[in-house]
Amino acid sequence: MFDVWKNVLAEVEQEIPHAAFSTWFTGVTLISVEDGVVTVGVPNVLKVKQLEVKYNDSVKTALRNNGVDFKEVRYIVHTRAKTKPKSREVTGEPITIKKKKLSIPKRKSGEFQTGLNPRYTLDNFVIGSNNDLAVSVAKSVVENPGKKANPFFLYSGPGLGKTHLVQAIGNALLARDPSLKILYIPISHFYSDFINSIQNKTSEEFTKKFRKLDVLIVDDFQFIVGKDRSQEEFFHIFNDLYQLNKQIIVTSDRLPSQIKTVDERLASRLTWGNAIDLQMPSFEDKCAILKSKAEFMGAEIEDEAVEYLADNVRTNIRDLEGELNHLLAIADLKNITPLEVINDGYINTVKTPHMQTLSPKKILEKTAKYYDLTVKEMCSKSRVSHIKNARQVAMYLLSEELEMSTPKIAREVGVKDHTTVMHGIKKIKNDLKLNFNLREQIAGIRERLYE
Ligand code: ADP
Ligand code: MG
Repeated sequence: MFDVWKNVLAEVEQEIPHAAFSTWFTGVTLISVEDGVVTVGVPNVLKVKQLEVKYNDSVKTALRNNGVDFKEVRYIVHTRAKTKPKSREVTGEPITIKKKKLSIPKRKSGEFQTGLNPRYTLDNFVIGSNNDLAVSVAKSVVENPGKKANPFFLYSGPGLGKTHLVQAIGNALLARDPSLKILYIPISHFYSDFINSIQNKTSEEFTKKFRKLDVLIVDDFQFIVGKDRSQEEFFHIFNDLYQLNKQIIVTSDRLPSQIKTVDERLASRLTWGNAIDLQMPSFEDKCAILKSKAEFMGAEIEDEAVEYLADNVRTNIRDLEGELNHLLAIADLKNITPLEVINDGYINTVKTPHMQTLSPKKILEKTAKYYDLTVKEMCSKSRVSHIKNARQVAMYLLSEELEMSTPKIAREVGVKDHTTVMHGIKKIKNDLKLNFNLREQIAGIRERLYE
């Protein structure tokens, strides 16, 4: 019966928007089926109410579709922590594990398993200045797999959309040509599968399975471990597929050359095609993403509330989504609008603690240090190019991270005229579009700001 419940959840997951599913069905378990009563355990009262009012029909339909005979469904408060201490929702994370297992459309046995999650599409990936380059490469991969950008290496810090984008490529390719053999696999699974295959003496089959692929998507490459047999195996598979002009897509939190355990030849080959990064979204990008997510969930949210979240969540898109869900959940519970939730002080915890401690001084110090300068040197009148560059990066970060006005920034960095600051910021913004070194630098400094 509990297996059936997994299928029921998987079906509901396909039926309702992703964000709604992860908000309302995280930690929802089956407790019992007795005398025609299905009892469902739900982590809190808010969710009970929501399930009863909004999702009862979906749950009932899914139960029926899975052959469960019942008269009634009851939702009760029940925390799963007591019964399954290892489950993920204890940590409050969205149910990413379920994503993988449950939402893959069931295929008949023998049919090829892609590992792709159909919920990640290019349509629901919001394009902004932080990712437009990556999206255009993604689209060219979809148009011409194996030809244009091969391998396509996509990198960024966590929660900025790597998994979403590469899975969306896979789904788009599959939609165009369902006969394509596409495999999405996190590198850690590649490893464990390979090691299992050695233990079970099936490594030949393992290799064959990979060499048959048309498209290989490897996620979280940074978790590749030592230069052992599995890395060698990966290298061989990579070379074989590459020579056959098969599309290879790899994501990582940094460039391969920065991962110590990666063999140099492999590292250089991975970036032969296109190595593109995803950046933190700007304020406008964040607003666009929030609006799109809210719309997708069918939720109403005021512009001011969107702006509040965009302004306050500065870590990544995953957190942005989490805060949106949190806000909408409270609005629903209190039966007030999201903006009222904010104004009434229900979510004053959004501001992440490091945001509150970030000061202009810290930005200047960290930026100067990054470029091996003292703050005094950086804020001097020197026109030596690397000093000027550091100064302009500092201006850019003061503006982006603290939203300081240009006259204020001018005072901080010791320039007379605020138009110099405007030019400086504009220059960095422009350069960021194509200068990958600069992107690395700024990402590096940002990381240090929020350590
Ligand atoms: P990463 O793999 O880089 O850690 P994910 O791909 O898991 O990040 O993205 C984190 C969350 O943010 C996901 O729910 C994803 O759908 C969402 N997300 C990221 N970028 C975008 C975007 N441009 N538009 C819409 N959703 C996005
Ligand atoms: Mg990911």
